[in-house]
Amino acid sequence: MAGFQGKSVLVLGGSRGIGAAIVRRLAAEGGKVTFTYAGSREAAERLAAETGATAAVTDSADRDAVIARVRESGPLDVLVVNAGVALMGDALELDADAVDRMIRINVHAPYHAAVEAARRMPEGGRILVIGSNVGDHVGFPGIAGYAMTKSAVQGLVRGLARDFGPRGITVNAVQPGPVDTDMNPAEGPLKDLLYGKMVIQRHGRPEEIAAMVAWLAGPEAGFVTGAMHTIDGGFGA
Ligand code: NDP
Repeated sequence: MAGFQGKSVLVLGGSRGIGAAIVRRLAAEGGKVTFTYAGSREAAERLAAETGATAAVTDSADRDAVIARVRESGPLDVLVVNAGVALMGDALELDADAVDRMIRINVHAPYHAAVEAARRMPEGGRILVIGSNVGDHVGFPGIAGYAMTKSAVQGLVRGLARDFGPRGITVNAVQPGPVDTDMNPAEGPLKDLLYGKMVIQRHGRPEEIAAMVAWLAGPEAGFVTGAMHTIDGGFGA
């Protein structure tokens, strides 16, 4: 597979989970991949050694750092904004600063990264943001703030698709349902609740999300833009 040979790729939030699977996939297909991380230095260094990708520390909660990283890594053929956090619990009890930090990571960073990337992105460029199926359908209590951030991604993707489409740049969201990562382990406490809503009653694998990202980021997806691509085991069916 050499679908990304010669392509410059930046994955924001690539040290673990879905982001690491995206880094592996795009690097295996020949992409010149840089990925960011915030807290998981050892995991990032291991992944860099394994894949040949470049790891760069950048906190997605820091707008200026995100913009600087995109600028330094550019011009980019592919930007994937994967970094995200999920704050869950009683909305009446959640710490307001933590909620605002989540909004910076999940909403502000994708917006600013995408706009900065588009400044120098060539025709055929691809911008992808990892949203969530809860952007469409929340399904259970305790995730209002997180769901809000993922619904915001939808507006971002639709709007920037219109802004950058005339230059041949596509902008899409991938919306996973439950995927087995540190954020949502297959043996975690939400398992029964989630499987009760799903047609395919298992967690997705990070590689399955990476496969969809690879297709959307590749040359066959040039007619796909402004769209949400849900991969959720039928959670929303
Ligand atoms: P994980 O918690 O397993 O991994 C999160 C990744 O994002 C890590 O590489 C982490 O890096 C990075 N990250 C988190 N905060 C920051 C930050 N402030 N700056 C830079 N990087 C950061 O999550 P998943 O892999 O499960 O989730 C990836 C994306 O998929 C998220 O956007 C999430 O909302 C979305 N998603 C996940 C679902 C699931 O069930 N797992 C379902 C639907 C959507 P580090 O550790 O180095 O800080």
